[in-house]
Amino acid sequence: MYSVRYKDPKLAGVIIKEAVKCGKPNCRCAGGRLHKWYYYLYYRELVNEGWKLKKEYVPRNKVKYMRRKINRIKGEEKHLKLELQRNILFLKIVKYCLRTGETDLLEELK
Ligand SMILES: [Zn+2]
Repeated sequence: MYSVRYKDPKLAGVIIKEAVKCGKPNCRCAGGRLHKWYYYLYYRELVNEGWKLKKEYVPRNKVKYMRRKINRIKGEEKHLKLELQRNILFLKIVKYCLRTGETDLLEELK
């Protein structure tokens, strides 16, 4: 089945905010007062037939846009899945009708 995971793996990811250490030895974060917030996109990408977890920094001004894009794709995938399930059900009914010779059900599906 078509999935965004293959086509555009980043859009199947999730954005998470994190408090981070910058690494400078004299910075406040070295004493535990971390910098916040920094946003990262976590996603899985198919590498040599395995799903590898990846992490990518997302600039603050891109967070809203990216989240909206991810949510829209999620909605579309759900919609496609439902449509597929409905088609499978329809085929099952057709199969049943062909086997039993009952055609009344087919009339109802029109
Ligand atoms: Zn720091």
